[in-house]
Amino acid sequence: MQHNSIPLSVPNFCGNEKKYVDNAVETEWVSTAGAFIGQFEREMAKKLGAAQACACQSGTAGLHLCLRHFGIGAGDIVLVPTLTFIATVNAVMYQSAEPVFFDCDGHMCVNVDQVETYLACECRMEDGRTVDVKSGKTVKAVIPVHVFGDHCDMAHLMQLADQYHLFVIEDATESLGGTFSQGTYAGRPTGTVGHAGVFSFNGNKIITTGGGGMIVSDDEAAVNHIRYLSQQAKNDALYFVHEEYGYNYRMTNLQAALGLAQLEQLEHFVGVKRRNYHLYSELLTKCGYGKLLPFSCGTTNCWFYSFALNRPDAELRDKLIRYMNDQNIQVRPVWKLNHLQTPFQRFRAMDCGNALKFYDRVVNIPCSTNLTLEQISRVCQALLAFNA
Ligand SMILES: *Cc1c(COP(=O)(O)O)cnc(C)c1O
Repeated sequence: MQHNSIPLSVPNFCGNEKKYVDNAVETEWVSTAGAFIGQFEREMAKKLGAAQACACQSGTAGLHLCLRHFGIGAGDIVLVPTLTFIATVNAVMYQSAEPVFFDCDGHMCVNVDQVETYLACECRMEDGRTVDVKSGKTVKAVIPVHVFGDHCDMAHLMQLADQYHLFVIEDATESLGGTFSQGTYAGRPTGTVGHAGVFSFNGNKIITTGGGGMIVSDDEAAVNHIRYLSQQAKNDALYFVHEEYGYNYRMTNLQAALGLAQLEQLEHFVGVKRRNYHLYSELLTKCGYGKLLPFSCGTTNCWFYSFALNRPDAELRDKLIRYMNDQNIQVRPVWKLNHLQTPFQRFRAMDCGNALKFYDRVVNIPCSTNLTLEQISRVCQALLAFNA
């Protein structure tokens, strides 16, 4: 990137990152064993108030491990939102299960009312299983995604999961540092309500390990089994006995060193994200053709900022993206919806009208925690000067 360019979302290393990474290198503990890994897991569990955490190579790997642990496989259906990064759905594919796609609510998170309608009208209970009437497949799990750091209606979803015997795997890859603001789970961190929650430490997330992920759950046996699977399901270090097939998904000590240093700054980063979000909101109130979308009220991590046109207009959105990029300001549309992606077109999708509208309206704008006030004001000036 040029020196005057403003990236969308980049890492911010202003704490003990170098110190801990140097320690890992100097002691030569750089691979999948070493003290930082366990320490990072314990600190994450403590911070989230979860019983156990397992560090792995990516958020995608974390989602995959959860699906495998909960026994989701061929012949099973997993309910997913269409508006999410493709990783959520890819994890379902790795287990040869079948995704069914749902629309989003007013906050770009999964439309739980639509999930309820599907379960009530298109499924029947059979020996304690929920069966999709049309395909005869078992609906076994749902993956709600806390999109851009907002949060799903987990109270309603958990009630459905209980009623229909579904596993709930929270894709909290974008919402570390956020908590539910009201209702049954008020005050609980996102990612700690479902049967398991998955976080990501990819380079664009609120804290990063370069690449990495974490699974958390109050079910200690589940996390221990997931950790076992993530290390090739190796029973012992001498004879290499394996009772199951596993994966090479364990986080390395180098990554955990970075993660531990980043985790120490999480509250600071959340504070900066919120402050900058409000600053953007204020500076953009005078904008005639669009506005910054609100997050659910209460405490979210405000990870990604969504500037939305007043009306869905894909052409205008693309013109705005080109205009901003010409000024070296990186912006992007939300992900192309998953039910329209080539590998998933053959699967069922509900009416995804809300998601389609968001797709034609929303542009994500720079949100790194090391943005300067001067950069924020430059982004806003550019948006205000755009000839819509
Ligand atoms: C980042 C992300 C993931 C995957 O995380 P990786 O660590 O990149 O594998 C999954 N789902 C969503 C919604 C994400 O934003």
